[in-house]
Amino acid sequence: MALLQIAEPGMSAAPHQHRLAVGIDLGTTNSLVATVKSGSAACIADEQGRVTLPSVVRYCEEARTETGYDALKAQKIDPLNTISSAKRLIGRTLADLKQDSHYLPYRFGSNERIIEMQTRQGAKTPIDVSAEILRSLKTRAENALGGELTGAVITVPAYFDDAQRQATKDAARLTGLNVLRLLNEPTAAAIAYGLDNASEGTFVVYDLGGGTFDVSVLQLSKGLFEVKATGGNSALGGDDFDHRLFCHLLEQNKLSQLNEQDSQLLLSLARAAKEALTADNSTTIQAVLSDGRKVDSTITRQEFQNLTQHLVAKTIEPVKQALKDAGVTKAAIKGVIMVGGATRMPHVQQAVATYFGQTPLNNLNPDEVVALG
Ligand code: ADP
Ligand code: MG
Repeated sequence: MALLQIAEPGMSAAPHQHRLAVGIDLGTTNSLVATVKSGSAACIADEQGRVTLPSVVRYCEEARTETGYDALKAQKIDPLNTISSAKRLIGRTLADLKQDSHYLPYRFGSNERIIEMQTRQGAKTPIDVSAEILRSLKTRAENALGGELTGAVITVPAYFDDAQRQATKDAARLTGLNVLRLLNEPTAAAIAYGLDNASEGTFVVYDLGGGTFDVSVLQLSKGLFEVKATGGNSALGGDDFDHRLFCHLLEQNKLSQLNEQDSQLLLSLARAAKEALTADNSTTIQAVLSDGRKVDSTITRQEFQNLTQHLVAKTIEPVKQALKDAGVTKAAIKGVIMVGGATRMPHVQQAVATYFGQTPLNNLNPDEVVALG
């Protein structure tokens, strides 16, 4: 299962002659690329030293595209041409979305076989958007490794069906990436923790990302993983914690009826505050709105936890259900792996530890662990 950087026998050591393979976590919120260097896996950073690439693509004027942080920043001013969360749409049809599509800010085409979004560069499918993200990661990896990639392992959620898997492969093909295999995300996380050569038994992977919660029950025997059950909530993630804090700021500062720009500003400050409270006991949020009104709030970690504890509690139901579907009791679980940036929050760690009666595995970076595997 390891991703090897293989030097062909008889080849010189010139870097462009190495065979370069990478692992890609094509996430709903963020994507990453990792490779194996001198025997251990590491994520590859961009020129500014950031390993995560926001999974956002903007179709700009003059056939130009922006991907990642630039696109994320532009989303407020150019929402119709800036596509995020394409992973929620890939391999699906408008009929699959039905109730959900009106929450999304895009202009959907009428194609019934594949979802299309109208942009200033014409109709784009989730495959096109994912291909842009993959292209950006491919370029990053090729620059860092000094040669053309020969192959990639791409991770997908364990619950992805054949159409969603095929569409992910199609996206890779559009960028000229040779897909060595698709690997289930929870399996990748378990591999990153070295469980494939260390243990036998049943493990739970608890993955709280930006917009989705996924739980998987994996059974490992003789070095092979079997996904026994999956579950989760496709509308629960770190974003909901941002939103709860945002609502609290509105109440505390007696604000209502914010325009789009001010809402986006406060929401991004709420997200930053949430992340700060993972390390700090309190943080201050200050802003001046477009009409001159001021926001000035100090929030403690305890207050934030009280505001969002119900969201943490909501993740436990699907965990129970997955255990039930897998036919195992929580006492039989050998280890719990924490995945996803939102599992950094101490009260999430605490809730999982309390439920399982054991400390979860969390010493790898939760947002890197899938790519590393
Ligand atoms: P996805 O798998 O959906 O692409 P990630 O695993 O990258 O997403 O998780 C993104 C979420 O993790 C965001 O909601 C982000 O705010 C949250 N996050 C990242 N770092 C922290 C932190 N230090 N504390 C709390 N939440 C964090
Ligand atoms: Mg993820």
